[in-house]
Amino acid sequence: MILIINSGSSSIKFRLYDIQDKNKPKDILEGLAERIGVDGFWSFKYDSTKHEFNDKLPNHKVALKLILDKLIEMKIIENYNDIEGVGFRVVHGGTVSSSSLISDDIYSSIVDSTKLAPLHNPGALVAIDAVKAIMPDAKLVASFDTAFHQTIPKENFLYTTPIEWYENHGVRKYGFHGISYQYILKNLSTILKKDCRKVNAIVCHLGNGASMAVIKEGLSFDTTMGLTPLAGLMMGTRSGDIDPSIIEYMSKELKKDVVEITTMLNKNSGLKGISKISSDMRDVREAFYGGNQNAKIAIHKYTTIVADFMVKYANYLNGEIDAIVFTAGIGENSDFIRTQVLDRVNILGLELDEKLNAYSNDYEDYKLISTNKSKSKVYAIKTNEELMICLDTISKIYLRSTK
Ligand code: AMP
Repeated sequence: MILIINSGSSSIKFRLYDIQDKNKPKDILEGLAERIGVDGFWSFKYDSTKHEFNDKLPNHKVALKLILDKLIEMKIIENYNDIEGVGFRVVHGGTVSSSSLISDDIYSSIVDSTKLAPLHNPGALVAIDAVKAIMPDAKLVASFDTAFHQTIPKENFLYTTPIEWYENHGVRKYGFHGISYQYILKNLSTILKKDCRKVNAIVCHLGNGASMAVIKEGLSFDTTMGLTPLAGLMMGTRSGDIDPSIIEYMSKELKKDVVEITTMLNKNSGLKGISKISSDMRDVREAFYGGNQNAKIAIHKYTTIVADFMVKYANYLNGEIDAIVFTAGIGENSDFIRTQVLDRVNILGLELDEKLNAYSNDYEDYKLISTNKSKSKVYAIKTNEELMICLDTISKIYLRSTK
């Protein structure tokens, strides 16, 4: 079996896969430990039944040990050795270009990248340390959200800041959501019956965090997020791209330091900041239907920004687009947002099929939502980052291929 861990500073999301068929891992259990270091609550779903526990969780190691021991007690595993590999989601891997077995070097890269992702990488590191201590024989693999974007050419990943900022401090675009893009590309290759290395696509990963990527001949060519996940699209609570001088200006106006202003750009901006209703698209959409002006502006801005990047990325592909994909919470589910976005793309000859696009959760993995007159195919595809990490972990442990 393979255990997948997505760990934050006070939470651990986990999923267990049966990998008897290494090409088709079977998802057998998923759970969440929360409020680690505060008090503690954890639960998991197994065989359609939810199991809940109120154990005290002083740290990640105690939480993981409780989870693993419960799996043994319930005879889901016989002992720790049944779990041969553990795959970790790591948000920032700096310039590491693929998922990797966690060697000393890779561990150091994760530590080094912590200053670029101070909210995310420490959570992964404490979970890695805990698993190393509890399961010394398991093989550990890190899947990075940044890795997929390491193929972005220098002209695209450099900022227009002094070159020494890049050379001496690593200031460049890294990009995120790479595990999701990798999964979407793999699925697109199957859907289109086309070699991964030939696929040209524009992918809109629209969740609470949101980004877009342009994939040129199977490689990331550009993406909207940057040095950090704050850049690019307007998101649930993040501003996306803004004039950088706003930070100094608002720091003086509000008499707050740069860190506090950046926190406001991360937590109080985007859909939440503009609509003043919620960071959740469903709430903003309801208010939009109710005629709320703030919600109208928020949705107009949100969808215009996605549409503008779509046009820019289509230009990068010379208009030769095999597929435009909507994925993640909003992209997979919101026919409303997909329609609003494509209504604002005027020059690509795209046409949604109203019936195919209509909201329904009747699709398993993907659905085509464009008409046959549309110049490019448009799809909604359900992303599955845990499965992608599991497949990566299998390939690193058993197949030792690089990608
Ligand atoms: P994620 O971060 O991928 O879980 O996505 C979260 C976002 O997806 C939130 O803004 C939700 O409001 C949005 N979302 C989930 N389901 C729907 C839906 N049926 N219609 C519109 N937005 C949705």
